[in-house]
Amino acid sequence: MVLITKILSQFIPMSAQSSPLILRILASSVTTAVKAGSIIKDVMEKGELKVVHKGMSKNDVQTEADRSAQRCIITSLSKKFPNITIIGEEGTLENENDIPNDWIVTESDESILKSTCPENFANVKPEDVVVWVDPLDGTSEYTEGLLDHVTVLIGIAVGGRAVGGIIHQPYYDYKKVKNGTGRTFWGLVGLGVGGFEAVKPPSDKFIITTSRSHRDGKVNDALKALNPDDIISVGGAGHKVIVVLEGRAHAYVYASKGCKKWDTCAPEAVLEASGGKLTDIHGKHYDYSKDAPFPDDQGIFATANGVDHNALIAKLPQAIRDAFPY
Ligand code: AMP
Ligand code: MG
Ligand code: MG
Repeated sequence: MVLITKILSQFIPMSAQSSPLILRILASSVTTAVKAGSIIKDVMEKGELKVVHKGMSKNDVQTEADRSAQRCIITSLSKKFPNITIIGEEGTLENENDIPNDWIVTESDESILKSTCPENFANVKPEDVVVWVDPLDGTSEYTEGLLDHVTVLIGIAVGGRAVGGIIHQPYYDYKKVKNGTGRTFWGLVGLGVGGFEAVKPPSDKFIITTSRSHRDGKVNDALKALNPDDIISVGGAGHKVIVVLEGRAHAYVYASKGCKKWDTCAPEAVLEASGGKLTDIHGKHYDYSKDAPFPDDQGIFATANGVDHNALIAKLPQAIRDAFPY
């Protein structure tokens, strides 16, 4: 046994051999999300988006970038972790595993592998884990050229709770540097966050971020009731949580049904690992188990660290609460 360990350690870094499963999934998801981001940029550079309309709304679209990024993520993670459940927004794609070799990510983020695992996750088993993948969040903004609204989201749920996540923003800084430098926010509840430092929102103003392309009467009624000084209307669930983490808004509020589990699993985990909170509009966490329904049917209510989540939710009128029954 000692001999086998010695031989193995010549080929595999010690941290990769000994890290608990949750850290290995998180560390692989960081490098995989970055690769997916580079694939998204390649598709845009080529200019062949091959748009498919998925739903009734003109904003509900899928492009070659969504499909390719999902193929990269699902193939890479399932090769490394064959016994976990992985659910991707784009469902089962044709030729899902028939991808170029360099789309299969084998590297991991070494600093995460070396972290001390929170005790409650040290013995997580593959069957406890569900990974929710939104290969490209903010597709309508991607097609419109609002490139910093685009994120790659990989969320890790354990026992039905969103606990780990990656929000990769491939086009970060794209207005200054061609195609952007990109940045990656990650978090694990109990361990903390990486890739960024959360900023407190201003104390002399109250700002809410919400959807720009999916607005309806209830979304507007909720905003009116909360009476913010400013509203930041931007695309993507991942991007809106970045706006909160950067201290540009106190809350992300969306009193509508359109988001799905792959939109919120990673943002919820990263926000909660930074001390914030993401729930439905009643203040309840979503269930991210493998058999949970996809829609976030009770809307989104997310707040920055230091904001009183429940006090803000209490300002919503009863008519809005009644519009989102369980
Ligand atoms: P948004 O805040 O509108 O950018 O949406 C965040 C995420 O939720 C994106 O992936 C959207 O596609 C999805 N989403 C939100 N509302 C809807 C809706 N009414 N129909 C379809 N997708 C939606
Ligand atoms: Mg999305
Ligand atoms: Mg998407």
